[in-house]
Amino acid sequence: MSEFDTKLVHGKSQHDNQTGAVNVPIYNSSTYVYPRADSKVRWDYSRSGNPTRNYLEDQIAALEDGTRGFAFSSGLAAIHAVLSIFSPGDHIIIGDSIYGGTFRLINQFFERWHLEFTEVDTQDLSAVEKAIQPNTKAIYFETFTNPLLKVTSVKAISKVAKAHHLLTIVDNTFLTPYLQRPLDLGADIVVHSATKYLGGHSDVVAGIAVVKNEEIADRLYFNQNGIGSVLSPEDSNLIRRGIQTLAVRMDRHLSNAAKIVKFLQSRPEIAKVYYPGISGSLDHEIASAETNGYGGIVSFELQKGLKATKFVEGLNLIQLAVSLGAVESLVELPYKMSHAELSPEDQLAAGITHQLVRLSVGIEDPKDLIQDLSQSLDRLSVRQSIRVKASEK
Ligand SMILES: *Cc1c(COP(=O)(O)O)cnc(C)c1O
Repeated sequence: MSEFDTKLVHGKSQHDNQTGAVNVPIYNSSTYVYPRADSKVRWDYSRSGNPTRNYLEDQIAALEDGTRGFAFSSGLAAIHAVLSIFSPGDHIIIGDSIYGGTFRLINQFFERWHLEFTEVDTQDLSAVEKAIQPNTKAIYFETFTNPLLKVTSVKAISKVAKAHHLLTIVDNTFLTPYLQRPLDLGADIVVHSATKYLGGHSDVVAGIAVVKNEEIADRLYFNQNGIGSVLSPEDSNLIRRGIQTLAVRMDRHLSNAAKIVKFLQSRPEIAKVYYPGISGSLDHEIASAETNGYGGIVSFELQKGLKATKFVEGLNLIQLAVSLGAVESLVELPYKMSHAELSPEDQLAAGITHQLVRLSVGIEDPKDLIQDLSQSLDRLSVRQSIRVKASEK
């Protein structure tokens, strides 16, 4: 078939109407006519199936090299449906820096449901092996963690998982199938917050799951239909459209991020930059081997004594907001915003200091982004009369 970037644009031909429309229509219909009472119809009710949603599900399944895709009303709804394929008494190993909402779902919902979880650093394979119990059924992690961008090897974890007959589940939100296809590296299930890069325009909340194996697909379909948090036809269309431009957007996110990393490294106000593209770490090594790029999220630590709040509030173009992966650049303070639910001790243990800033690099002209970062850093150090020498970094 065609190359990946072509697949992004074209999806799967539908030829489902007489108009010649190049895009699948938005089928705003909750129900469908039965020609006869005992007809076996393809579409009967839109929670069970909708042609617009189905187009998106086929499109993302092909892009992730899976067999079937499922679209949900949010990333968390997708994760909920995926974890619901397990049963009370099952044990799942989870990455210790997974998305906060996933963590809350696990700790405050699934634990009540008697699913058992053990948190481990999934970069540490022996820790993962050690956590395996007789009732362990799966390993769940994010390839790049949030906000410190620690990188886990999908290949290595799936190898361990296969040896113990466990499923490997990867949250691929940060990378998207353009930068990594976890199913090709051995994973069994991929989940996405499509709210982020797949949608790409901060205008829709959506979730995706893709699987390889038909038996798992049937269980997941049962949950999608049975729990019912499906994506609406209109929102399915927005994600479908977002995916068409994923490659061009991602290329710009990557080149902008690389320029911004270089800029940040040149500034004495910055104590540390977290980005898997920076060489010399295990994160860089794994990312170089298993991804086609280092993503569009850059985190960095301001020097002690500089006020991170003032810095983010001093930005003009880059907007202060949670979420990520959209065309516009967004900045946030993890300790006060995205990771505010963690206790101060847990934040510290996770490396989330009060100096840490997370930047979702958009697709604006990089000169404007750098100018904006620069003016806010300038005002910061002038206002506080702090001049930290580069040698002190
Ligand atoms: C945002 C996010 C989620 C949750 O998705 P929603 O669409 O907000 O429900 C899950 N995982 C990661 C990595 C995310 O960034």
